[in-house]
Amino acid sequence: MRGDDTPFPARLTVPRWPSGVPDLPRALAWTFVRAGCAGSARCAIGRWRTQEPAGVVEAGDLPAGFFEGRLVGWRLAVCGEAGRVARVVAAATAAGLLDEEIVVNVESTASARWFCPACGATTTVPAGAGSAGCDGCGRRLQPREHWSPASGQFLCDAS
Ligand SMILES: [Zn+2]
Ligand SMILES: [Zn+2]
Repeated sequence: MRGDDTPFPARLTVPRWPSGVPDLPRALAWTFVRAGCAGSARCAIGRWRTQEPAGVVEAGDLPAGFFEGRLVGWRLAVCGEAGRVARVVAAATAAGLLDEEIVVNVESTASARWFCPACGATTTVPAGAGSAGCDGCGRRLQPREHWSPASGQFLCDAS
């Protein structure tokens, strides 16, 4: 799995998380992942479980290679905190899942992931931070308004 070494893709947008709990489209099988999921009023897991019988896995308990070699028809649904959800989506995307094979619900936004163009490291920062030191090279990072759905990272300027 490439994970955080994924080169920053050309297609950039700002984050567009769904505003309400999305319904699950039809699929053969699902896995639900809790990524900083707090079970709050905005949590989707309970509602999703009424729609599909699926196992629920904590993001921290996902074994290496979990997303690799999945059968066609298998889908992933992730609920939790924005930065941690983005990390799971990035891992799944790096393993070959397509956007339409991943359903996301964000309960809260406490962190964001910033990509350093100088060294390629990912730094997790509190949501709303204006700048931060890069975990990889120590340069000062400032986020641009560009966000990659594939990697779940904001592209930054490094100085
Ligand atoms: Zn949740
Ligand atoms: Zn860096």
